[in-house]
Amino acid sequence: MWKSGAGREATISISRWTERWIAVAIALAAVRAAGAAEPDLATRLKLLVEAYPESLSGVEDDRLVFRDGGPPLEIDDGKTKDHQAALSAGDVEDSLRQVYPLGACETEPAVDFDPGRIRSDPLMMRLYGRSAKAVEASLVPVEWFGATLRVTKRQGAAAALEKVRDDLAAKPELRRYLAPSAGTFNWRKVAGAPNLSVHSFGAAIDLNTKFADYWVWSGGKPGNVPGHANRYPMAIVEIFERYGFIWGGRWYHYDTMHFEYRPEIVAIARAAGASACR
Ligand SMILES: [Zn+2]
Repeated sequence: MWKSGAGREATISISRWTERWIAVAIALAAVRAAGAAEPDLATRLKLLVEAYPESLSGVEDDRLVFRDGGPPLEIDDGKTKDHQAALSAGDVEDSLRQVYPLGACETEPAVDFDPGRIRSDPLMMRLYGRSAKAVEASLVPVEWFGATLRVTKRQGAAAALEKVRDDLAAKPELRRYLAPSAGTFNWRKVAGAPNLSVHSFGAAIDLNTKFADYWVWSGGKPGNVPGHANRYPMAIVEIFERYGFIWGGRWYHYDTMHFEYRPEIVAIARAAGASACR
């Protein structure tokens, strides 16, 4: 009896310690998870609004509110989409879903990991213009290593690109990758897709095509993407990201000469502590 009683006590005692350690382990895991947690939708939307202060004033009733007093824009259309559908017709919520990794490290993107490649065309049109003509009205010249490019001044895009250029100019060994630029403004759809390219809004730049790797040029077709490749130094990528541009070389559907101004995607990446170097 005594033995079994002591045994029971010991068992109870061990189980209490076990419980306590499990509780501590859960608490630690929660802290770790919180530290590395991806921001929730409300936080992402707050960062989105802060990234475009020229046009956005806040979120109300699940809609984005614009400073121009125009109709608020629905954040989530409620449709369940696979990756291809999100690329073709993403809503605001879809566009913020994948967290972009920052930094000087190159990683091979997982299947359908295209952070920033999903966009909301209705939002982009409200930020930059609804037509080629409307976008063109806001294009300004940006000097780019011996040429003059046309870039939208809206949302601070041209000013950000000038900062990128100035930092890049301090590294003359990079110049051959940067110029001649393969283009900025071009009102067009993404190749083989129904949605608009960010080139339509004058907020994207392609570098020297001589070093470009593009999943379509490599023989890719939807559902069949060739192996990832890149020939641009990561020092270039790091400088663009510093000023709110994301790189097409981080995408599963890679486009390594392509950078686009997406300050909300970079802000969310910073808030998430998302680094490509791990
Ligand atoms: Zn491009």
